[in-house]
Amino acid sequence: MPLDHNDWTQYREFSEAARRRDAEDDLAAFRDRFHMPPHGDGHTLYFTGNSLGLQPVGARDIIEGELEDWQRFGVEAHFEGRRPWVTYHREATADLAAIVGAQPEEVVAMNALTVNLHLLLVSFYRPEGTRTKLMIEAGAFPSDRYAALSQLRLHGLDPDEHLIEIAPREGEHTLRTEDITARIAEEGDQLACVMLCGVQYYTGQWMPMRDITEAAHAVGATCGFDLAHAAGNVPLQLHDWGVDFACWCGYKYLNGGPGCTAGAFVHARHAMKPELNRLEGWWGHAESRRFKMEPDFDLMPGAEGWQTSNAPVMNMAALLASLAEFRAAGMDRLRQKSLKLTAFLEEGIHTVAHSTGSSLEILTPSDPEARGCQLSVVAHGHGKALFDHLTQNGVIVDWREPAVIRLAPVPMYNSFGDVAEFLNVLHAGLRRDA
Ligand SMILES: *Cc1c(COP(=O)(O)O)cnc(C)c1O
Repeated sequence: MPLDHNDWTQYREFSEAARRRDAEDDLAAFRDRFHMPPHGDGHTLYFTGNSLGLQPVGARDIIEGELEDWQRFGVEAHFEGRRPWVTYHREATADLAAIVGAQPEEVVAMNALTVNLHLLLVSFYRPEGTRTKLMIEAGAFPSDRYAALSQLRLHGLDPDEHLIEIAPREGEHTLRTEDITARIAEEGDQLACVMLCGVQYYTGQWMPMRDITEAAHAVGATCGFDLAHAAGNVPLQLHDWGVDFACWCGYKYLNGGPGCTAGAFVHARHAMKPELNRLEGWWGHAESRRFKMEPDFDLMPGAEGWQTSNAPVMNMAALLASLAEFRAAGMDRLRQKSLKLTAFLEEGIHTVAHSTGSSLEILTPSDPEARGCQLSVVAHGHGKALFDHLTQNGVIVDWREPAVIRLAPVPMYNSFGDVAEFLNVLHAGLRRDA
C-alpha cells in the first residue's frame, strides 16, 4: 500500500485491534475458500459482496463435473450424473432452507429474482372488489417497482390509485416500524398485498419483517419480501414469522456467480392450493408423472409447484459450492462475526470523520438489529475524486452520485484487516480531497 500508515494516530490502534480480532476469528479460514480479486502485488479491499459475491474456490470443480457428465452421458446425465440433473434444483434446497429459516418443502431454486417476484405476485397479489392495493417501499429497487407497476396494469388497475409507496418521514432515511404498521392498519381492507424488501439495497435497513407480516395479516392482506440483500446476510425465520412468499437472487451474498439461479419461498400453508393463480409449466407438474406427458396439469405440492422449467444446471453449479461453505460456517456464526465486523467499520468511520474533520453520515440504522453487514455512507462535500482515490488504492465499493458509498464487509470472506486498511485509504482520500 503506497500510503503512509502512520500519519493518523488511531490507525495503529485499528490495525492492532484488527490483527487481534482476525486471530480470534473462528471463521477466518473461509476467506481462503473464495477468490479475492488481486490488486497490484496484493488483493483488493472488496466490499461489494452485496452486489456480486466472490467466486467460491470449489465452483470450478462442480462446473467442470457437470461439463464432464454432459460429455460422458449426454441426455442420460439427467439420471446418471453425479448430481442427476432431473432433480438438480433440489441439490440447493436444504441449504437455502437453512439460510432463510424455512422448511425444505417451502423453498425452491429456480429462474431469476425478478421472474420469481412476478410468479409469486401472480399468486399472492390478487386484487378483488375493494381490496386492490399493493404496498411497496418508496425508493424500492427499480426492478421491484417495475414488477409492481406491471402487475397492477395486468389487473387493469391504475398505479396512481392502487400502488402505495411507503416513505420515511421528512428528513429521515429509513422507515420506522410504527409508521409501516400504522400505514398498513390505515389501508385496512383495501390492502391486498404488502411486498417490501428484507434489507433495503440503498440504506441497508433490515426491515422489521415479523411486525410487517403480522400487521399485513391483521388486515387480511398477504405479505412477501424481496430478500436480494437479506439472504445470506441476516438471520431469517420466514416460516416462523408466517411470511406468505419471498424471493432472492443467488449472486449477491450467496456467491453463486453472475446471473445465478434465484430462490423462492412459499409458506407451507399454501403448499397445496390449486385455486391460487399460477403461471404453470411442466416442472410444477407432479414429479412422478412428469414424463408421462399428460395433457392436464397435476400440481406438485410446496414451493416446487411454482416451477415452470427444468433447472439451469450450469447456472446453479457455482451456487452449490458456495452453499457448502454456508453449511460449514452456519448462519449463526456468520451473523456473530458480521455484528462485530460492521460495528468495527462503523466505529472506524466515525473516527476517520473526526480525525479528518469530515462530515461522514451513515444512512444505515445504528441499531444492529435493524441492519445487516452493509453500511451506506454519505461523504458530504466530496465527489468523484474521493471515489477515484479509493479505486486507485484497490478499494471496491459501490458509489452513487453525489457521494454515497455503500460497502458491505462480508463475514464469509472479509477480515477485520480489510476494514482497517480501508479506513486508512479513506483517511488519506479525505485529507487529499479536503
Ligand atoms: C439485485 C436486486 C434485483 C436484481 O434483479 P434480477 O432479477 O436478479 O436481475 C432486484 N431487486 C432487488 C431488491 C435487488 O437488490
